Amino acid sequence: MFFGERGKRAIEILEAHGYEAYFVGGCVRDALMGQTANDVDVTTSALPAQTIEAFEGFRVIETGIKHGTVTVLIDGEPIEITTYRCDGEYLDHRHPESAIFTADISQDLSRRDFTVNAMAYSPKRGFVDLFGGREDLKNGIIRAVGDPEKRFDEDALRIVRAVRFAAQKDFIIEERTASAIRKQLPLLTHVSAERCFAELRKLIMGRGAERVMNDFPDVMSALVPALKPCIGFEQHNPHHIYDVYRHTARAVGAAPFDEDVRLAALLHDVGKPSTFSIKDGVGHFYGHSEASVELAMQTLTALRCDNARIQRVLTLIKYHDPVIAPEKTRVKRLLGKIGQELFYKLLDLKSADNLAQAPMCAERLKEYDELRRIAREIAEASECFSLKSLDINGDDLISLGVPRGKDIGRILNTLLNAVMDGNVENNKSALIEMVMKIR
Ligand code: ATP
Ligand code: MG
Repeated sequence: MFFGERGKRAIEILEAHGYEAYFVGGCVRDALMGQTANDVDVTTSALPAQTIEAFEGFRVIETGIKHGTVTVLIDGEPIEITTYRCDGEYLDHRHPESAIFTADISQDLSRRDFTVNAMAYSPKRGFVDLFGGREDLKNGIIRAVGDPEKRFDEDALRIVRAVRFAAQKDFIIEERTASAIRKQLPLLTHVSAERCFAELRKLIMGRGAERVMNDFPDVMSALVPALKPCIGFEQHNPHHIYDVYRHTARAVGAAPFDEDVRLAALLHDVGKPSTFSIKDGVGHFYGHSEASVELAMQTLTALRCDNARIQRVLTLIKYHDPVIAPEKTRVKRLLGKIGQELFYKLLDLKSADNLAQAPMCAERLKEYDELRRIAREIAEASECFSLKSLDINGDDLISLGVPRGKDIGRILNTLLNAVMDGNVENNKSALIEMVMKIR
């Protein structure tokens, strides 16, 4: 198993000082899956002060000394080293009141959330796997360590972590653990929005996102209340074979692994239930994009999503529905409005949306390929689609005698449209000539 040389050195150093030390948690799980973990955690019998002493000469950061965690920089890589601990009582359904250090690794492993996260490994001593973590990993199972109801009651974040790991690793949640999730779900209100969002992001980026969304609509709507009315909401429309919620789950799963696109897929139709109408037995959702934008904004703001991402996601949702004619001028206008990067993401969102509709809608995918081709052609020929790339600017207009003020913007936009429509060349003298005519 490979954890990187630096983690190995940290363990060797602690052992040389007479302590026990193991890789633990996510890095053991990921190494067994043949994946590289995003952080390497070491657990040790050494007390924090003893760890600091053992790493004399190294840069040591006392990151979470209260919880027994010390970060050591080995060749520039941070390794988190935490003293074996068992947790004190949990009083707020989220944090233990205290961390109690122990000399017994089995206590440390028992406080961990899931069997696949509760394994330790040292190159010298091998595995400590007290709860069948390797077996569960092999079978793709998320199972709480100990009594699941109690574990979710202690810390409600574990509810979302379970669902997130299931989606991320494409694992099944063991039955007793799954029913405890459903039972303890109301406790989720004790978890901060930031933590919920951090898990939700990983969840929707998972390979198993669609399946997990379908298995746990209650958890999803606890995280994103706007999804609740979508569950079981029939569309009564020949373009659709799924209800709004199942369609949403399908769209998330069909989207590429891009967080903007997947978040947009998650929220693109939340405005449907409130805009539903039916005529001659056929369902319609006029204005649902705008309603979705509004609800998505409330959702993402409540989840403390950063503003730049909110803006990108809302733009994608706003434009997800209308047909984009595969014509150069139409593409240029949209590129001018949303930029190249979002244009490609929008096509990815539209593709995912179509793949989640009735099979006949997959016809549309060819149109998106054509739109991508047109956008590439525009980029390759450096064709102008924004004021930035127009060969004339506000200062030029002022020196031509146009008074400062809103006329400048109006004239520049008229010029841009003329260039995009092919009515004038994008070069300064041609543009000046046109200014003289239209001002
Ligand atoms: P990731 O790949 O997301 O980092 P991870 O399993 O490493 O997954 P971390 O949040 O980094 O998750 O936590 C490291 C380890 O600490 C986990 O593997 C688990 O053993 C333990 N752990 C983390 N959060 C909890 C929790 N809320 N309750 C119990 N144990 C936890
Ligand atoms: Mg981790």
